Amino acid sequence: TIGILAIDKNGDISGACTTSGLAYKMHGRVGDSPIIGSGLYVDNEVGACVATGLGEEVVKTVGSFLVVELMRQGKSPQEACKEAIQRIVTKPNSNYKDFQVGYIAINKQGETGSYSIHQWFSMTKYQNNKNENIQSDFYLK
Ligand code: ASP
Repeated sequence: TIGILAIDKNGDISGACTTSGLAYKMHGRVGDSPIIGSGLYVDNEVGACVATGLGEEVVKTVGSFLVVELMRQGKSPQEACKEAIQRIVTKPNSNYKDFQVGYIAINKQGETGSYSIHQWFSMTKYQNNKNENIQSDFYLK
């Protein structure tokens, strides 16, 4: 999945995502990306989040909506992404070592965060005419 979150100079937030789904997926499978609240969620009063990785796990936790709701409760984008990943990995019998999920998020102040289960999840932040590549923090160290 490629996910994009943006905030303009008025503080208006938008988001988008695109995906090919999973390799060898069953015919007719619907992943998280086309489901608002799972693969992507934008609330212009709070912030936005987009997900990548095993869509079934994101759908089961309504991941992007969860991240935005955690930000609404006062968490930073980074804290919210981390908690949403923890929600997945701490589920009883979770086989999280076998799949990846990653989130990026932005809040109304333009602060950003990202967190994933495994290493090698990164985002590019474009601000003040500069691109910055940010390696996300991750759970499985
Ligand atoms: N999230 C997508 C899906 O499960 C896969 C991906 O991240 O590419 O359909």
